[in-house]
Amino acid sequence: MILIDKENIDFGMILSQHALSKTSFRKILIEFFYRSKHSLSVEEIISNISHPVDKVSVYRALNAFEKNGLIHKVPDKANLIRYALCPSECSSSKHLHNHAHLLCSNCNETYCINDFKIPIVNECKGFVINNLKIILEGSCIDCQQSYS
Ligand SMILES: [Zn+2]
Ligand SMILES: [Zn+2]
Ligand SMILES: [Zn+2]
Repeated sequence: MILIDKENIDFGMILSQHALSKTSFRKILIEFFYRSKHSLSVEEIISNISHPVDKVSVYRALNAFEKNGLIHKVPDKANLIRYALCPSECSSSKHLHNHAHLLCSNCNETYCINDFKIPIVNECKGFVINNLKIILEGSCIDCQQSYS
Protein backbone atom coordinates (compact mmCIF):
# COMPACT_ATOMS: atom_id res chain seq x y z
CA MET A 1 0.00 0.00 0.00
CA ILE A 2 1.31 3.42 -0.90
CA LEU A 3 0.82 5.89 1.92
CA ILE A 4 -0.16 9.29 0.70
CA ASP A 5 -0.96 12.38 2.70
CA LYS A 6 -4.65 12.51 1.90
CA GLU A 7 -5.15 15.96 3.41
CA ASN A 8 -2.77 17.82 1.12
CA ILE A 9 -3.46 16.43 -2.30
CA ASP A 10 -3.88 18.93 -5.10
CA PHE A 11 -6.65 17.22 -7.04
CA GLY A 12 -6.59 19.88 -9.73
CA MET A 13 -2.94 19.07 -10.34
CA ILE A 14 -3.68 15.35 -10.61
CA LEU A 15 -6.25 16.14 -13.29
CA SER A 16 -3.83 18.34 -15.24
CA GLN A 17 -1.08 15.71 -14.98
CA HIS A 18 -3.46 13.35 -16.78
CA ALA A 19 -4.47 15.99 -19.35
CA LEU A 20 -8.03 16.25 -17.97
CA SER A 21 -10.06 19.41 -17.67
CA LYS A 22 -10.40 20.73 -14.11
CA THR A 23 -14.12 21.18 -13.52
CA SER A 24 -15.30 21.35 -9.92
CA PHE A 25 -17.22 18.09 -10.39
CA ARG A 26 -14.13 16.27 -11.67
CA LYS A 27 -12.11 17.48 -8.68
CA ILE A 28 -14.80 16.18 -6.30
CA LEU A 29 -14.96 12.89 -8.21
CA ILE A 30 -11.23 12.21 -8.09
CA GLU A 31 -11.16 13.17 -4.40
CA PHE A 32 -13.98 10.68 -3.78
CA PHE A 33 -11.86 7.93 -5.35
CA TYR A 34 -8.87 8.88 -3.19
CA ARG A 35 -10.95 8.76 0.00
CA SER A 36 -12.72 5.50 -0.77
CA LYS A 37 -11.22 2.25 0.54
CA HIS A 38 -12.79 0.19 -2.22
CA SER A 39 -13.75 0.63 -5.85
CA LEU A 40 -16.83 2.65 -6.83
CA SER A 41 -19.83 1.90 -8.99
CA VAL A 42 -21.66 4.61 -10.91
CA GLU A 43 -24.62 4.24 -8.52
CA GLU A 44 -22.39 4.69 -5.45
CA ILE A 45 -20.88 7.81 -6.99
CA ILE A 46 -24.23 9.40 -7.81
CA SER A 47 -25.76 8.69 -4.41
CA ASN A 48 -22.73 9.79 -2.38
CA ILE A 49 -21.34 12.80 -4.13
CA SER A 50 -22.35 16.19 -2.74
CA HIS A 51 -22.49 17.88 -6.13
CA PRO A 52 -25.54 18.07 -8.38
CA VAL A 53 -24.66 16.01 -11.43
CA ASP A 54 -26.46 13.95 -14.04
CA LYS A 55 -25.64 10.38 -14.98
CA VAL A 56 -24.29 11.38 -18.41
CA SER A 57 -21.65 13.68 -16.90
CA VAL A 58 -20.62 10.95 -14.45
CA TYR A 59 -20.17 8.43 -17.27
CA ARG A 60 -18.34 10.98 -19.40
CA ALA A 61 -15.95 11.88 -16.57
CA LEU A 62 -15.32 8.21 -15.72
CA ASN A 63 -14.58 7.38 -19.37
CA ALA A 64 -12.13 10.28 -19.61
CA PHE A 65 -10.47 9.29 -16.29
CA GLU A 66 -10.11 5.72 -17.53
CA LYS A 67 -8.77 6.71 -20.93
CA ASN A 68 -6.10 8.93 -19.38
CA GLY A 69 -4.85 6.42 -16.83
CA LEU A 70 -6.41 7.73 -13.62
CA ILE A 71 -8.82 4.88 -12.90
CA HIS A 72 -9.37 1.34 -14.16
CA LYS A 73 -12.39 -0.97 -14.43
CA VAL A 74 -12.42 -3.70 -11.81
CA PRO A 75 -14.31 -6.99 -11.68
CA ASP A 76 -17.71 -6.87 -9.99
CA LYS A 77 -19.94 -9.72 -8.84
CA ALA A 78 -23.14 -8.10 -10.02
CA ASN A 79 -21.59 -7.09 -13.36
CA LEU A 80 -21.95 -3.42 -12.55
CA ILE A 81 -19.41 -1.03 -14.00
CA ARG A 82 -16.99 -0.40 -11.16
CA TYR A 83 -13.77 1.61 -11.10
CA ALA A 84 -10.76 1.99 -8.83
CA LEU A 85 -7.85 4.39 -8.70
CA CYS A 86 -4.81 3.43 -10.81
CA PRO A 87 -1.28 3.10 -9.48
CA SER A 88 0.48 6.45 -9.83
CA GLU A 89 2.64 5.24 -12.74
CA CYS A 90 -0.40 4.87 -15.01
CA SER A 91 -0.97 7.24 -17.91
CA SER A 92 -2.94 7.18 -21.15
CA SER A 93 -0.03 5.36 -22.83
CA LYS A 94 0.88 2.89 -20.03
CA HIS A 95 -2.23 1.46 -18.45
CA LEU A 96 -1.91 -2.33 -18.16
CA HIS A 97 -2.14 -3.66 -14.61
CA ASN A 98 -1.04 -6.93 -13.16
CA HIS A 99 -2.41 -6.53 -9.64
CA ALA A 100 -5.05 -8.83 -8.20
CA HIS A 101 -8.51 -7.91 -6.92
CA LEU A 102 -10.41 -8.94 -3.82
CA LEU A 103 -14.13 -9.40 -4.11
CA CYS A 104 -16.32 -9.46 -1.00
CA SER A 105 -19.04 -12.06 -1.46
CA ASN A 106 -21.21 -10.30 1.09
CA CYS A 107 -21.27 -6.59 0.18
CA ASN A 108 -19.98 -7.07 -3.39
CA GLU A 109 -17.30 -4.38 -2.99
CA THR A 110 -14.07 -4.81 -4.96
CA TYR A 111 -10.64 -3.96 -3.56
CA CYS A 112 -7.31 -3.62 -5.42
CA ILE A 113 -4.34 -5.48 -3.96
CA ASN A 114 -1.47 -3.52 -5.38
CA ASP A 115 1.24 -5.64 -3.76
CA PHE A 116 -0.13 -8.89 -5.23
CA LYS A 117 1.22 -8.98 -8.78
CA ILE A 118 0.45 -11.50 -11.46
CA PRO A 119 3.74 -12.70 -13.00
CA ILE A 120 4.30 -11.38 -16.51
CA VAL A 121 4.05 -14.26 -18.96
CA ASN A 122 6.21 -13.90 -22.04
CA GLU A 123 5.28 -16.92 -24.03
CA CYS A 124 1.63 -17.68 -24.22
CA LYS A 125 0.94 -19.62 -27.41
CA GLY A 126 1.26 -16.46 -29.49
CA PHE A 127 -1.42 -14.63 -27.55
CA VAL A 128 -1.23 -10.87 -27.19
CA ILE A 129 -2.20 -10.19 -23.57
CA ASN A 130 -4.22 -7.04 -22.99
CA ASN A 131 -5.95 -7.81 -19.72
CA LEU A 132 -4.76 -9.69 -16.64
CA LYS A 133 -7.19 -10.90 -14.01
CA ILE A 134 -6.80 -12.63 -10.68
CA ILE A 135 -9.82 -12.46 -8.41
CA LEU A 136 -9.74 -13.53 -4.78
CA GLU A 137 -13.12 -13.93 -3.15
CA GLY A 138 -14.01 -13.77 0.51
CA SER A 139 -15.34 -11.45 3.13
CA CYS A 140 -14.04 -7.91 3.70
CA ILE A 141 -13.10 -6.42 7.08
CA ASP A 142 -16.31 -4.38 7.33
CA CYS A 143 -18.47 -7.44 6.72
CA GLN A 144 -16.53 -9.57 9.20
CA GLN A 145 -17.09 -6.91 11.87
CA SER A 146 -20.82 -6.72 11.23
CA TYR A 147 -21.13 -10.47 11.86
CA SER A 148 -19.60 -10.32 15.33
ZN1 LIG B 1 -4.13 2.17 -14.92
ZN1 LIG C 1 -17.86 -6.76 2.44
ZN1 LIG D 1 -7.35 -2.61 -9.30
